[in-house]
Amino acid sequence: MDLTRLAPEELDSVLGTLRDFMEREMPLQKRLEWDKQDHCPESLVRAMLSPEVALHLLFIPAAYDGMGGGAYDVYRLCNEFAQIDLGVATAMLAVALGTDPIRVGCTHEQKMKWMRRIANEGLLVAYGVTEPEAGSNVENLSTTAERITDASGKITHYRLNGVKQFISNGAIADLYSILARAPEGISFFVVERGTPGLQPGKHEIKHGIRLSNTAQVVLEDVVIPAENLVGGVEGQGLKQANAVFGFTRLMVAAFGLGVGTAALQRAIAYSKQRKQFDSYLCEKQGYTHKLLVPNSVRLAASKAYIEYVASLLDSGKEDLQVEGSIAKYMSTESGFKASEDAIQAHGGYGYCVEYEVEKISRDARILTIYEGTSEIQQLIIGINRLRQCVKSKGQWYGQMAAELEPLNQVGGPIVAKALRFVSESAIAAFRQKLSKHQHTLFELATSMAEVETAHALCKSAAQSSDPLLQAQARIWASEVALSSRARILKLMAGAGLDQASLQQIIAKADWPDALADQAGLLKDMDLAAQKLVSD
Ligand SMILES: Cc1cc2nc3c(=O)[nH]c(=O)nc-3n(C[C@H](O)[C@H](O)[C@H](O)COP(=O)(O)OP(=O)(O)OC[C@H]3O[C@@H](n4cnc5c(N)ncnc54)[C@H](O)[C@@H]3O)c2cc1C
Repeated sequence: MDLTRLAPEELDSVLGTLRDFMEREMPLQKRLEWDKQDHCPESLVRAMLSPEVALHLLFIPAAYDGMGGGAYDVYRLCNEFAQIDLGVATAMLAVALGTDPIRVGCTHEQKMKWMRRIANEGLLVAYGVTEPEAGSNVENLSTTAERITDASGKITHYRLNGVKQFISNGAIADLYSILARAPEGISFFVVERGTPGLQPGKHEIKHGIRLSNTAQVVLEDVVIPAENLVGGVEGQGLKQANAVFGFTRLMVAAFGLGVGTAALQRAIAYSKQRKQFDSYLCEKQGYTHKLLVPNSVRLAASKAYIEYVASLLDSGKEDLQVEGSIAKYMSTESGFKASEDAIQAHGGYGYCVEYEVEKISRDARILTIYEGTSEIQQLIIGINRLRQCVKSKGQWYGQMAAELEPLNQVGGPIVAKALRFVSESAIAAFRQKLSKHQHTLFELATSMAEVETAHALCKSAAQSSDPLLQAQARIWASEVALSSRARILKLMAGAGLDQASLQQIIAKADWPDALADQAGLLKDMDLAAQKLVSD
């Protein structure tokens, strides 16, 4: 990945540009109106790519006239964007996604052409992968790329035929990255707007993110020059798509954090102004400990994990598919949950449009679906981490656990025990052949995502003097300690594990110890609630 982190003042300037632009051009009343009308403000989306605003330059390398921001910078931009409007953020995400195959797969000459055009002309890009019969299973795609040769047999052009489904910016893009089946395998092609035979199909009327355009893209005998084959070699498309998952899923994870934060902030603000039964909602422990604190904790865990993955990417680490999946799974589920709870926290007013939380929740709903559904993330996490636990004989989580042992102040030893329990259970599930059940993989994946985010949160809280973050780390440690044990034991008992093996796992779960580790939980929740509402 040829991206490096910006200087903090440069990043601040980009975020400031975004905030000013959105405040000036897309204030809340306008966005609520567009949402009601199911309207994508195309001219304003284009304005975000104009030289004056140029937000897209953040994810284009400096060598191709971009700013060349790193993963951390892109995370911060996505997080900020989603806090304002996830629909408009999705239009920008599509530009980044559509540019990715070019950034990762194109030759230098191709990049000099396409990347520089995207940077300098502010081209609106779309990522055309999904098809009616190829959703989660991309390999099932049926769009074809047929070779056209000259008299000497040299390939001069490709002819594309097929239908792409649910494409963000589908009806308004200037440039499309289209995945199609060529004779030597699945490949990406760059297709320009206006190429005969390329046209938008059905416009989708959506549950949320209505400020983004989503449409089918129909390709009927679309003839493009052979040099538009990304990388110049057929059959590299899936490799190119996989190569960026660590990065692109981090972007959607940042969206989850952003919408969740926006929803929680509104719930907190409302709880401080709404009185029922003679006191403010924020003074009611049942309210704060159900609707505010748990969401703040899950979002803190998501944030710590996103920042951990961003730092790995910025240090040049590759092959971070599992980490990208954990970040996306955890943050988007947490963001959506926070948005649903924000409606509840506003009572009847939350169900109506004026407080925005119902729009935030409708918008957030897409996050567990696009860029790989939550279930696909669970599959990736479960299969890969199980393999790593078995192959390393438990050392994969053993090392993480060892790092946490000294971090007493933030629940480190509690998470360390949970990490070891998940690891030992995963190995037992593999040996007992329980991992042949997809349900086993999914349940293990959820526990793995929980313990790994708890590991990241403990480490982040240990380096901080913020009492709220430290309390959140201890609360998440307590939660994960019980939930991972309960989920895995239920799974093992339900799958018919033999009595002797089950007794062994129950002994390892050590319930009396796990319950003893809950000491202080209520005090921490009181502290977190007080800090959240006092800011
Ligand atoms: C608003 C919006 C914008 C989008 N933008 C784009 C875009 O710009 N470009 C693009 O290419 N695509 C885009 N998509 C497509 C999106 O990525 C797909 O919708 C998504 O990958 C799921 O595919 P599907 O809808 O066909 O669902 P399916 O794959 O049919 O899945 C249906 C359900 O089955 C589950 N499932 C599927 N496979 C398995 C399995 N092996 N095990 C267990 N459960 C499974 C899924 O998790 C899901 O719950 C967009 C979609 C929407 C709605």
